[in-house]
Amino acid sequence: MGESLSTKNETIKVCHTLLHSPKFFWLLLQIDADAAEQMHATVCPLCGDGVLHKANYPRKPKACPEEVLWDFQSRWSFCCSLCRKRTTPMSVRFLGRRVYVALAVVLLPQRRSTLSAAAIEICNTLDVPPRTLARWRQWWRELFPATTLWQGQCARFMPPVQTIDLPTSLIAQFTGAAHEAMGRLLVFLAPLSVRT
Ligand SMILES: [Zn+2]
Repeated sequence: MGESLSTKNETIKVCHTLLHSPKFFWLLLQIDADAAEQMHATVCPLCGDGVLHKANYPRKPKACPEEVLWDFQSRWSFCCSLCRKRTTPMSVRFLGRRVYVALAVVLLPQRRSTLSAAAIEICNTLDVPPRTLARWRQWWRELFPATTLWQGQCARFMPPVQTIDLPTSLIAQFTGAAHEAMGRLLVFLAPLSVRT
């Protein structure tokens, strides 16, 4: 199985270049736009009756390429015309309320020893404070495994994902071209982008 392992390692290395790829960020924007459009076309899921009006959240994302920054400065959200409650579609761009884009939260907290020199350089240019990285690592290893999403989905991965090696062990499960693999991984994680 040496071949599939090396393919996985290649994916892990190449993925980091996506942090500098406006094209990939446009793709993520499109996925979020589609989710928002679908939600907008429905009635309020909370009262089952009201019309959803746009009430987007302003965002100041970090680790976002300049070229797409403008489009990443808001997150789609809706407010009901009747019950006034908010409904926010899942996002592949923002993982919950974190300031950094979801892609950074997935790719940057990996162990330095597992990364290529190029990947480490990309991490360094983004200049994420060590404290933030430590917090993300703790989230991946201690809180993520306890999420409803992971509890419900972890059994589908073979071989089992080693929680001690998260997020690297999860990234390695998504193979193929880097943009496809990361796209699918972010879609997989999207339920965590909304409060459940
Ligand atoms: Zn409502």
